[in-house]
Order: sequence, then structure tokens, then C-alpha cells
Amino acid sequence: MTQTPPELDVAIVGGGPGGLAAALALTRAVKGIRIKVYERAKNYRPLGAGAILEVNGLKAIGAIDPALEKWFTANGWTVTVSKTYDERGNEVKSVLTDHDKALKKYGKQSTFLGWYEIQSAFYRALPPDTVVFNSRFQSYEEDSDGVTVHFAGGSPGPVQAKVLIGADGYFSAVRQQCLDDGPPDFGGTVVWRARVSVKQPLEHSSWFFGAEKVSYMYAISSDCMVWTASAPIRLVKEAGVDFDPSNGGRFRASTQAVEDVDSALERCLKVFEGYPEAFLEVVRETDPRAVAEHGIFTRQAEALPADGWGRGRVTLLGDAAHPVRPTGQGLNLTMEDAAELAWHVQQQGLTADALRSFELERIPRVGVIVKKAQQQGEAAYKKHAKDASVDNRRFALKENYTEFQNSKNFMPLVPEQAACSSVEAAEISREGLHTAQESQKAAVFA
Ligand SMILES: Cc1cc2nc3c(=O)[nH]c(=O)nc-3n(C[C@H](O)[C@H](O)[C@H](O)COP(=O)(O)OP(=O)(O)OC[C@H]3O[C@@H](n4cnc5c(N)ncnc54)[C@H](O)[C@@H]3O)c2cc1C
Repeated sequence: MTQTPPELDVAIVGGGPGGLAAALALTRAVKGIRIKVYERAKNYRPLGAGAILEVNGLKAIGAIDPALEKWFTANGWTVTVSKTYDERGNEVKSVLTDHDKALKKYGKQSTFLGWYEIQSAFYRALPPDTVVFNSRFQSYEEDSDGVTVHFAGGSPGPVQAKVLIGADGYFSAVRQQCLDDGPPDFGGTVVWRARVSVKQPLEHSSWFFGAEKVSYMYAISSDCMVWTASAPIRLVKEAGVDFDPSNGGRFRASTQAVEDVDSALERCLKVFEGYPEAFLEVVRETDPRAVAEHGIFTRQAEALPADGWGRGRVTLLGDAAHPVRPTGQGLNLTMEDAAELAWHVQQQGLTADALRSFELERIPRVGVIVKKAQQQGEAAYKKHAKDASVDNRRFALKENYTEFQNSKNFMPLVPEQAACSSVEAAEISREGLHTAQESQKAAVFA
């Protein structure tokens, strides 16, 4: 391939939270490293709804950039009371979460944030010009010196790097070339979600279980909330709503449906007809342009390749490596990947061996979490709220599992005292976030 040395150390395909976190982690792990993130979108727009940063995800972010972890903790929203209702709107249970317990035990507590705020915070923390927009990965070639990456339409032109990271989501094109193992499985479920403004902070989060459907409403700040709703494809079809996972479903999953949002709200309302008013009235009030629709796509834990999910000088991370049922761990596992990958590179350099040891270390842990998410996700669609919670309790591993999920520690990439983040201290305030949210809302609803 190269007569001259590669122009980059690392080329990352995909500028979602995974690609950005990996770029930040590697920047901090290896002084002077030359990295670019190639993202197919033209720019970042205020998309997405919300996500939870769990103890394990926060620990990984703390290892990458302690100031960024502080920012997330300061600007996230913590839910104390969580209520569960059945399909008629009757309260089934109310759970008070003792966050101090997690704080004492693990030094962190989980927190909700807007997805866009998470993505933006990583983007801002990176050196300027790290992300190259409008760059759709097409293919790569590898030789003993590195990898040459090609983009659609020849724009940008071919890029040479020592290592290629595929962080391009569920339908990873990098994975298809590297492993050629076909698309992920459609999990049989369709999801709608949106972020909406509220005049007053939500007092509690609300789960609605029943009639084989699930919906959830939670706050991400004092003036914003998110709702999600999911239903099995059988019920979606019975409601007269067409959803084809082999084309539209795939398309929607990878773009979060921004091109097709107008009908997503109506489609959701059709499928959830008769569901509790407390949920439906929020959905009806939502700006249709804010509603995303997508299928759930996963790969079974058993399908994780035993010899690693990359080949040669190419690796994968996040949803590209292990698409997981959305039970709150997808983003957190992705943060873990970023911290672990950078640590292995810091120890072993930018070599194929470093990539394989990263993957082989990740697989046993990722497998447990992917499997658990699969079980939790499937249990949630049982007929009644009570059944669903019983099913969730039935996993004997639950206590140990929480411990397993939360007790893992990550090696700091930069010694704590030397950690100097590019995240401005001024941003670590709720006031700062509110200003950001105002401009975001203006952009969404313009
Ligand atoms: C727009 C968007 C909104 C989302 N909103 C939410 C949300 O509200 N809540 C939630 O829990 N999860 C959301 N997700 C999913 C969530 O980010 C992931 O499940 C998880 O965080 C893992 O992140 P990732 O970076 O591995 O994958 P993703 O977040 O899917 O990011 C993949 C990135 O790769 C880019 N890409 C794909 N193909 C190519 C290509 N050929 N060339 C170049 N770039 C490419 C995509 O545009 C995307 O930016 C969203 C994802 C996206 C893309």
C-alpha cells in the first residue's frame, strides 16, 4: 500500500458517541496521536432523545476524561421515584431508588441526559477538526503497513492510517467488509421515541407495561423529558401499521428516522390506541418532527466471534461490534469499549495485537451484558406489568449481575493529577446546559 508512512495513526468511521469517545480516549492515551473521525452526516443536528449513563459507563468516561465525567454528572438528571402502571393506567408499584447506596458502593450514581448533549459534549472535548463530516465509508484495503480507507464519491480521497476503527453503528459497513457476517437480527420490536419540553420537572419516571407493549417517560433535565414506546411487530401489523425491517426498518434504525418523522407520531398513536391517557396525552402533544421510529436490531451474545470481532489492523466498537437490546447498556458498553481500546493501545502501541487483546478482553464481559439485556428486553413484553416485574426478578443473577455490571474499574488513561480536559470549567453548570438546550430547542422546532 504505502511507500510513504500513513498520514494518520487512526481512522475512525462513525461519529456517534462511540467513535467520538474512542477518539477522545486515544487522544488522551497517546500523546500526539493523529486521529480523524469520518462521519457520513453533513453536520451534527439536535437529534436523538435521551439515554442513561450508568455507573459502568461513568467509570469508563472517568478513565477517559475525569472533567467530562464531572460535566455529565453535574448536568444529568437523577430519577428518584419510578412508578409502574398496567395497560389500564393503574399504579402497580412505586420504587424509590437509593442513589446514595450506589454512590457509597461504586462512587457513582446513574444519570439521564439528552442524547444530543452526550454526543455534543464528546465533540466539544475533542481537538478542533477531528471530525470530518460528509464522509461515507465505502471500503478499505489492508497491507502490512496499515489500512487505506475509501469513501463514497471519492470524497474525501483515500486515507491511509495505521489502524481502522469501525464505530458505524448497527449496520456497520466496516463490519460487513471485515467479518462478512450479514446484518444484525431484527429483534421483532418497533420503537418510537421523542424528546419534549415540559413546563415543570417530572416528579417521577413512569413505566407502562401491558398488552405486550412497553412505554416509558423520564426527565433528562428540569424542562425536558423523553418518552419511548415499543411494541412487537405482530401488534404493529395488527394495528394496520406497515413496518418492513428488511428495508424501511433498517433505514430507520440507522438514521433514527429523521427523514420520515411526519408519520412516525401517527403510527405510534395507532399502535398504542387504548393505552393509558397519561402516556397518550404526552405523545399527542409532541411535535411530529421530534419523533423517531426504528426497529430493534441485535446480535445474540453467542454470535460474538470467539477469536475477536476485528481482523488485522481493523477493529469495531459500540453497536458495530455488539448491538444490544435497548435496556440502558448500549451506550454504557460503548463507553467501556472506548476506554479499554485506548488502554490496550497505550500498553501495546497501534498494532493488530493490541486490537485483538482489546477484543478478547471485552468479549466475556460484553457477552454477559448482551445476554442479560436480551432476557430483560424479552421479559418486558409479557402481558401484565406484574408479570413483567416478576420475570425480571426471576433472573437469579440479578444481585450479582448488578455487582458484575458496576464493579468493573478502568485504568485512567492520564494520571488524575495531570488530567486537564478541554471541557471548559464554565460548562460544568446547569445554567450552561440550559442555554445549550434553549438553542437546541430552537433548532429542533424551527
Ligand atoms: C442520530 C442518532 C440518534 C440516537 N438517539 C439515541 C437516543 O436517543 N437514545 C439512545 O439510547 N440511543 C440513541 N442512539 C443510539 C446510540 O447512540 C447507540 O446505540 C450507542 O450509543 C452506541 O453508539 P455508536 O457510536 O456505537 O453507534 P451510533 O450512535 O449508531 O453511531 C454510529 C455513527 O456512524 C455513522 N455512520 C454509519 N454508517 C456510516 C458510514 N458508512 N460512513 C460514515 N459514518 C457512518 C452514523 O451516522 C452515526 O453517527 C442514536 C443513534 C443515532 C445515530
